[in-house]
Amino acid sequence: MKRAFNFNAGPATLPFAVLEKAKEAWLDFNGTGMALMELSHRSKDYEIVHNKAIASLRNILSIPDDYEVLFLQGGASLQFSMIPMNLLKPDQTANYILTGSWSDKALKEAKKVGSTHVAASTKETGYHRIPELEEINLSEDAAYLHLTSNNTIFGTQWHQYPNTQVPLIADMSSDILSRPFQIEQFDLIYAGAQKNLGPSGVTVVIIRKELIQSQPALPTMLNYETFAKNNSLYNTPPTLAIYLLSLVLEWVEENGGIEAISKRNEEKSSLLYNMIDNSNGFYIGHADEKSRSHMNVTFNLKSEELSTKFLEEAKQIGFVGLNGHRSVGGCRASIYNAVPLEHVEALVSFMKNFKEKY
Ligand SMILES: *Cc1c(COP(=O)(O)O)cnc(C)c1O
Repeated sequence: MKRAFNFNAGPATLPFAVLEKAKEAWLDFNGTGMALMELSHRSKDYEIVHNKAIASLRNILSIPDDYEVLFLQGGASLQFSMIPMNLLKPDQTANYILTGSWSDKALKEAKKVGSTHVAASTKETGYHRIPELEEINLSEDAAYLHLTSNNTIFGTQWHQYPNTQVPLIADMSSDILSRPFQIEQFDLIYAGAQKNLGPSGVTVVIIRKELIQSQPALPTMLNYETFAKNNSLYNTPPTLAIYLLSLVLEWVEENGGIEAISKRNEEKSSLLYNMIDNSNGFYIGHADEKSRSHMNVTFNLKSEELSTKFLEEAKQIGFVGLNGHRSVGGCRASIYNAVPLEHVEALVSFMKNFKEKY
């Protein structure tokens, strides 16, 4: 079998070793005579998988005991609503930093719940960059400050986080586990799994325990407390997605943890950015240099015609997912943790040949 050169933005490529391992257990999990997804979510066999996923995540990210690790459904997008529903009180204001489409969407949902404030935004200039820390302007009575650590669509990423007096919340959907960070700097982190953690269907929420409150007026399934009290087993969790998540986490541990993965990610993104920077303007990067993402490399060619040709030829050779997001166009290479270095090298070599040809 030939693996595709998969640069999809999400769902994205998974480590091949994980797929192989899952295959072994596909029909008969652990000698149960049942596939994993046929097990009861209350069974011992499943419980072991579930708890192992939580323990691995705690280990990899050094998550202290005063944080809960929760597995939810509804994608990162449901968190846009759950966060204000759980954390924004009537006399408070929710603060958002706008750095791209996902933070826009997060703000849009918060507005339906209560008072909001844009603490900083780079929308005016086409989301080319992350704001400087000095540009952040909090409102009074801020319930929290929300940011998007990596902007999947525009290809920008925070490289230094603000230190705030108010709870800091990050949507890390597209860069969790890609580089080290201080978990204690944050009060809530969330990520849909389908970029760096596993398949779609499960959303990871890491939340400081003191933020979890009993909120009788909230629907049970929209209250963090429901999941925290029941080890994310109040109702049926997405068992197969959590199993695959546990295998991805095992793969991260076996591959040197976050430090080693981060190094490889830098190597991968440098290859592409060097190609762009040394192309004499043939390739034009979207993000300002200081704000560049190591996960999503966004670029354009000199003309739309040439971009189209580039994408066509790339597709013919077998590169998948290089189109920019439908809202911005251009090209994007998503190079998440599981994208092998060799695939990035193949892309760079294609870019070099294409440049020479045209
Ligand atoms: C993909 C993505 C989302 C949306 O995730 P869903 O699981 O599809 O809801 C939200 N935020 C960021 C940063 C993303 O990359």
